[in-house]
Amino acid sequence: MAAPSPPASARGKGMPGEPEGSGEPQGGAPVSRVAGRVRVRDDLAGMVPYGAPQLDVPVRLNTNETPYAVPQAVLDDLADVVRGLGLHRYPDREATELREALALHAGHGVEGTWAANGSNECLQQLLLAFAGPGRSALVVEPTYAMHSLLARATGTRVVTRVQARDELLDPAAAAGLVAQAGAELTFWCSPNNPTGEATGAEVLAAVCAAAPGVVVVDEAYGEFGSSHAAGLLSRFPNLVVTRTFSKAFRMAGLRLGYLLADPAVVDGVRLVRLPYHLSTLTQAVALRALHHKGALMDHIAATERERERLARGLRRLPGVGVLPSDANFLCFHTPADPARLWRGLLDRGVLVRDVSRYPTLDRHLRVTVGTPSEDDAFLAALAAELA
Ligand code: PMP
Repeated sequence: MAAPSPPASARGKGMPGEPEGSGEPQGGAPVSRVAGRVRVRDDLAGMVPYGAPQLDVPVRLNTNETPYAVPQAVLDDLADVVRGLGLHRYPDREATELREALALHAGHGVEGTWAANGSNECLQQLLLAFAGPGRSALVVEPTYAMHSLLARATGTRVVTRVQARDELLDPAAAAGLVAQAGAELTFWCSPNNPTGEATGAEVLAAVCAAAPGVVVVDEAYGEFGSSHAAGLLSRFPNLVVTRTFSKAFRMAGLRLGYLLADPAVVDGVRLVRLPYHLSTLTQAVALRALHHKGALMDHIAATERERERLARGLRRLPGVGVLPSDANFLCFHTPADPARLWRGLLDRGVLVRDVSRYPTLDRHLRVTVGTPSEDDAFLAALAAELA
């Protein structure tokens, strides 16, 4: 047997899986093809696990959660719900009550509403049902890295197109791009991660009309902007909108995502979901959390104001530019080497995201909108690094 490779934490400069000489570490080292008799699939060999570093630093602005904790009164109510659960039985496989509540929340029919463990699981289920071996998925870069990673993991061929996000697509150009790619599944992230801009309804409608298959509009940050795809669902049976409790809803720890679509899409997803995929705990807590959605999402207007204050603070720094954002994060560029800047900020206790390796984004980093004091700490650290 080959000697096992050292644990990720023992590699590089003491950061998990950090490749020598790079800035931000990924979620682990590249997976090797052969380790004794354990051979990862050939098409996965050399891939790197996805994952932003989870480091215990004073200011964590790298994963776009809401910085405000769930209020204690809400936590107490959720705890009461958990006390009454019958955990000796399997959960409702169909998550019926939760889906009814989500459908009501979203203004969509329950037959076309589906829930899973984070919107990532929704995306994975969609790929399993509507893409996979012999089919392809269109990914318009720069965008959320999990779209292409999940596609590859499900054996789907990834068709990549690069589109600079400061050149906004018009409906005809977007339709042309999607039609030409000819993919069975098209990902469209709005607001887009990591750049931040939302896509208007006219462009989304053109994409849905032109796509030869399913269009998945990833609205993980949708609550922050004003452009939403759900209004197009009645016109386009090939449209799927995915949403999450992880961002504006303040509940990233719960792992709850949902999708809105034609009931035929949900029928397809049912074929690939694991039985009892959504735990009794998740279903019950998410259902109860929806009763508190006003309190949980009451930060949105303040977060959007804080985003604009943060953007102004960034623009005041020498050589710094900021992309427009409809989300709870900002993508900015500086004259500095991004890997060195990322490390310098970390040394000052501020964790952001280095997105400079994404197409069209050299010298860019991404920062989550935090509390005003977190954002001030970030701006001070950045000013010091750029000085
Ligand atoms: N889509 C986008 C664009 C995201 O940024 C994220 C999380 N970073 C997700 C989906 C997945 O979120 P979750 O699985 O927590 O719902």
